Amino acid sequence: MTSILACSDLHAGYQKRPVVRGLNLEAAPGEIVALLGANGAGKTTSLLTMAGLLPPVGGTVTVAGKPVNHNRPYLAARSGLALVPDDKCLFTTLSVAQNISFGRRGKAALSEALSYFPALEKRVRLPAGVLSGGEQQMLALARALVAGPKVMLIDELSMGLAPVIVQDILGVVRRIADDKGTAVVLVEQHVEMALRIADRAVVLAHGDVVLEESASVLREDPGRLRQGYFGRTA
Ligand code: ATP
Repeated sequence: MTSILACSDLHAGYQKRPVVRGLNLEAAPGEIVALLGANGAGKTTSLLTMAGLLPPVGGTVTVAGKPVNHNRPYLAARSGLALVPDDKCLFTTLSVAQNISFGRRGKAALSEALSYFPALEKRVRLPAGVLSGGEQQMLALARALVAGPKVMLIDELSMGLAPVIVQDILGVVRRIADDKGTAVVLVEQHVEMALRIADRAVVLAHGDVVLEESASVLREDPGRLRQGYFGRTA
């Protein structure tokens, strides 16, 4: 299938110094690509660059064939990208419903969000700040979902959450990709759980791609993944 997101020879970093080099990553509609790697490998830096929040040091990011605007993040969002950052970036004093309305206003948006995250139903009038960690993560995803993105970029949704909750939320991410045809790039430390819902995985080590493989192959042969993770540093 044709890709909706394409990173081509992407060099990503800070002050023109790349920490990620030569990343070629594509995602098709409805496809989940897990972006994996040890701490400091460059996953968040790659995601922020795809989202238009960091200018690339080199290479390109396109959505539906059009270059992402790295000077104006709102234009990147308008081109169909939605970032769910690891700190969730919720408005903690505003209600759940108000937070969702930042993705899209109206009752239809709220009921769409609640159809994917029914646990939020009894919480819609509460300030986001009083939600549990899992509920806050659901809210961050719901807000992104109702914006109707072509591509969702999700950074470490498991941060601080119990594995059973992570598993549930990742299941919803799979449903969103299947139902809506949303392409997803998923950065995740819970590698096994990520591989359960992902179609493909790209592994970074020290800023270089060291492995790219279908998730089903890696599920069956975890040794290949370990080699990707640790091979270069052993
Ligand atoms: P983690 O899982 O720990 O978040 P990561 O794979 O997401 O790791 P990044 O956060 O992208 O890795 O960091 C990649 C490299 O870029 C690291 O060496 C980090 O120290 C460096 N780095 C991250 N943020 C900045 C910044 N704002 N300025 C300069 N260097 C940075």
